[in-house]
Amino acid sequence: MKVKCDCYNRLRKTSGTEVIHITVGIIGGGAAGLFAACFLKREGASFTLLEKTSSCGNKLLLTGHGRCNITNRKPPEELKDGYHEASGFLRSALRAFTPDDAVEFIVNELKVPLKEEDNNRMFPVSDKASDIRDALVDYAGKDNIITGFEVSDISREDDRFKVTSGDGRSYLFDRLIVAAGGKSFPHTGSDGNGYELVKRTGHTVTPLSPALTGVPVREEDREFTSSLSGVSVYAGTGLYLDNKKKNRAEGNVLFTHDGLSGPAITELARDIPVDVRERDGWIELDFTPGRDEKDVDEELLSKMRIRPDARLTTIGAEFVPSSLSAALGERAGVTELRACDVTREERRGFVRELKHLHMSIERQPSFDTAYVTRGGVALGELKRKTFESLIVPGLFIIGEMTDIDGISGGYNLQAAMSEAYVAVRASLC
Ligand SMILES: Cc1cc2nc3c(=O)[nH]c(=O)nc-3n(C[C@H](O)[C@H](O)[C@H](O)COP(=O)(O)OP(=O)(O)OC[C@H]3O[C@@H](n4cnc5c(N)ncnc54)[C@H](O)[C@@H]3O)c2cc1C
Repeated sequence: MKVKCDCYNRLRKTSGTEVIHITVGIIGGGAAGLFAACFLKREGASFTLLEKTSSCGNKLLLTGHGRCNITNRKPPEELKDGYHEASGFLRSALRAFTPDDAVEFIVNELKVPLKEEDNNRMFPVSDKASDIRDALVDYAGKDNIITGFEVSDISREDDRFKVTSGDGRSYLFDRLIVAAGGKSFPHTGSDGNGYELVKRTGHTVTPLSPALTGVPVREEDREFTSSLSGVSVYAGTGLYLDNKKKNRAEGNVLFTHDGLSGPAITELARDIPVDVRERDGWIELDFTPGRDEKDVDEELLSKMRIRPDARLTTIGAEFVPSSLSAALGERAGVTELRACDVTREERRGFVRELKHLHMSIERQPSFDTAYVTRGGVALGELKRKTFESLIVPGLFIIGEMTDIDGISGGYNLQAAMSEAYVAVRASLC
């Protein structure tokens, strides 16, 4: 007889008089899998985490440039807006395990002190992602973790999940949490094989594309970006495809040797399709966002009247860094001109570069450099409150494997934690 369980602390079901412990398997020792392991440990549950590489949390170690931006302390109602199309779906998990809950768990249970930086971003006080990774592994318990186990198949055996590795080892679990990650930074272990595993259980995977990454520009614009490599400037950005504006952002833009990066660019990357060249994809940069062209032109003109002997590009440096002003001046063909010699057309040409710098996109960015994967297991096949599969009861799919990606600022790790929390709670019922 199965006893109805009204609380996730109840770890047992009964069969006649025999008490059977529910055993939970976790596939993947990344952020989502490790947090799931810790939540199971906190409940005294029986579980085993299977990780394919020789150590857990390889990607976690790279997060926040090695500092780990573990969460973003915004209220869940505000936070959810950072998850694009999935904001509605994730809402209930974010409310069940909020950023405040995450902070409390990490500080009080994992014993890793945290600090808050700009835009509500939370980091370990030590600035070391390894402190979070090590604390997670210690808390979950090394005895519960098996590394070097690459799951190659999931099947059903007598009402249980049989999880098999490529070399023929297998485990049986009552519940299974799959947290095998996305496709980005594949050398960390998350190379997209998890999608194949769950496809074989009947799940659909929506189209995958790289998100949160820099954008390579075409050869004709590469000289421009590489000459400015390392220069960072505040700008409005717009992504254009088929001559239509597809998306926009605002923030810092970083010029690199092969293109553009920085938050105002990486936010656009998820919308760049494979056939971006055929669709004439380009990015527009506006170095005076929020101001119209006429207004900028008038300000430039008044500055030129005050300094008639100065070069136009020197005056332009009052709007943008001087190296960028010089590069824009070259594009507008006004490099050597003094303010008093500049025609109205030439001045307007310079303002056009300031407001509408056009950078053609070379190709879709690579998964090798993407921080996250857009796309994944279709959300219509998961219960939004628990992340349990609607196709295979008892199977939970969490983390980057799902069709959820967040903006930068701690959003992706918070999603991993919230999903792990609701999945664990439901897996023990
Ligand atoms: C450079 C970088 C910096 C980032 N910085 C931040 C940040 O500061 N803040 C933030 O919120 N997000 C950040 N992210 C995103 C964040 O790291 C991911 O969203 C998060 O790690 C996803 O967690 P996950 O557990 O779903 O997947 P992963 O962390 O990728 O873990 C998946 C695990 O599953 C294992 N695995 C895969 N297949 C199998 C299999 N068949 N059998 C067994 N194991 C398997 C993999 O080896 C891996 O260990 C960053 C990402 C990158 C790449």
